[in-house]
Amino acid sequence: MTNTPNTQANPSPISTLSILPSVYPGMLEHLRAHYPNEGCGILLRNKRSNEHHFHIFEPIPNTDQHPQHRFYLEPSVYIDLLFRYPEASWDRILVHSHPFTSATISREDILGWMDTQALWTGWLVVSFQNGLDKPTYSYYTKL
Ligand SMILES: [Zn+2]
Repeated sequence: MTNTPNTQANPSPISTLSILPSVYPGMLEHLRAHYPNEGCGILLRNKRSNEHHFHIFEPIPNTDQHPQHRFYLEPSVYIDLLFRYPEASWDRILVHSHPFTSATISREDILGWMDTQALWTGWLVVSFQNGLDKPTYSYYTKL
């Protein structure tokens, strides 16, 4: 046994993630608008409805000092959203983009997720490595 945290995570099939078709373009537009910085936001699904799709996207500013390589969720926006969409009633997916690298979750991402694990149904990483018009995705539901 070791105390070294596991910094590998395996993606879930992207087909297991269902985003309402009308929400998807706005999410991508937000992430593209932040290029070459990482863009961030939350996808939401009401647990108490019969909604299958994640049907709301809420953008969050990235206020990291090195926003091309990392993200820091602007607390005033982020905390407000966590109260507006409490975990008891909402499935929440953290979304962020990788402007230059693959959609594989980074070691730093995993460490950040470990600190906030109870908040999230999953993480979606959107990569623009192949161009803004060719996004690729990785969806993670567990560490
Ligand atoms: Zn990342």
